[in-house]
Amino acid sequence: MKIGIVGGGAAGLFFALFLSSLQPDWHIEVYEKEERAGRKILATGNGHCNILNENPAPECYSDPLAGKYLAICGYETLHRALEEEGIYLQKRKEGIYPLTYSAASLLAYLLDILSSRKVVFFTGFKVIDYVKSANGADVLLNHNTKRHVDFLVVSTGGKSSPKLGSDGSFFSVLSKHGYHIENLVPALSPIKVKEVGLGILKGIRHQSLVSVVSKGRSLYEERGEILFKEDGLSGIVAFNASSFLSWKRLWNSSAVVLDFFPDRTEGEIKKMEMRARSYGGRPLETIVEKNLAAYILKRSEREKKDPVAMLKNLVFHPSSSYGFNDSQVTHGGVVLDDVDLACHSRIEDGVGIIGEALDVDGKCGGYNLTWALATAYLLAKSLKS
Ligand SMILES: Cc1cc2nc3c(=O)[nH]c(=O)nc-3n(C[C@H](O)[C@H](O)[C@H](O)COP(=O)(O)OP(=O)(O)OC[C@H]3O[C@@H](n4cnc5c(N)ncnc54)[C@H](O)[C@@H]3O)c2cc1C
Repeated sequence: MKIGIVGGGAAGLFFALFLSSLQPDWHIEVYEKEERAGRKILATGNGHCNILNENPAPECYSDPLAGKYLAICGYETLHRALEEEGIYLQKRKEGIYPLTYSAASLLAYLLDILSSRKVVFFTGFKVIDYVKSANGADVLLNHNTKRHVDFLVVSTGGKSSPKLGSDGSFFSVLSKHGYHIENLVPALSPIKVKEVGLGILKGIRHQSLVSVVSKGRSLYEERGEILFKEDGLSGIVAFNASSFLSWKRLWNSSAVVLDFFPDRTEGEIKKMEMRARSYGGRPLETIVEKNLAAYILKRSEREKKDPVAMLKNLVFHPSSSYGFNDSQVTHGGVVLDDVDLACHSRIEDGVGIIGEALDVDGKCGGYNLTWALATAYLLAKSLKS
């Protein structure tokens, strides 16, 4: 059997790893438009690669149907499969990482194994289209190149962080082949806000309870560290909130509310402020960092609100995400209805689709690589000559 993989990112490379182990005699080719495969892997987890999540629960994904795939191939299966390939893992407070704690070492090892198993790489080759026939597909690449394969795997990713390869251009090819593509929207990105004057907050971090509020109801809450940008909110909790806004299409009709002291009542903070006030000086600065205090004071004067109350209820209105360039994953892609539970296409025989190219994206914390690896594993396991 001859297998062609379009896209040498996490899903494509791990698919090649699992398949080359299961079917050592098969010929496997990877077509990657960048000069090097796996560039995005290097950027994951701040260079450490948060490779799996221990509990990839359906509600942590844009489409809870992802849970059906992860029920067949979840953390235990993937952990075992990786260790069988010599990729050992460690558990840290923030999640599951390679034992080396290095995305670069992981990628180097992966490429070494694939090369030792005679997987052929066409790097710098972009797949422009493919022509399906009863006995496989002719893959049309740039540089006037054509390859015939028996089975074609699409692992072209989404549209996020295009400098790392995935520019979303293959979706128009898939659409032409009859696939249904859910609208592409940036997810896991910082949130731009309509409020002005955030410049003095740039770089400040504060633990917060972050809520997404719509029509007076809190729809999503998470605790964590907010990082202020000059025109918006960043940090993992803001990233996750941005995904929620994208999943529920709430960008134009909701507020992001910060409670800087979720474990203290307003009365308790008021007491702290009153005590500080009795010593003179700037009481709010004994509670929060001085630029944050100055921002709160200014806003409270403008909005005629109590500054202490604002520390527990600071409202921001999202204007937009920072776009695909600054987003970690893409919401949207090939709808799950177009593939079965082993990621075989329901539209064309002899085609599989895996990873972020499918319309599934997850929160921060290893959920997205879990999805890429799980779909890669399911497809690899299902292929028989
Ligand atoms: C900065 C950053 C940090 C992240 N950190 C984490 C993390 O720690 N944990 C986690 O779970 N997730 C993380 N993610 C998300 C995770 O990296 C992605 O969800 C995952 O890489 C998706 O894998 P994929 O193979 O489906 O797509 P991609 O990794 O995007 O790979 C797609 C590949 O296909 C290639 N390609 C596209 N079109 C063509 C074509 N026509 N012809 C040939 N090649 C093509 C692209 O160049 C690319 O190499 C992070 C993302 C970013 C941007």
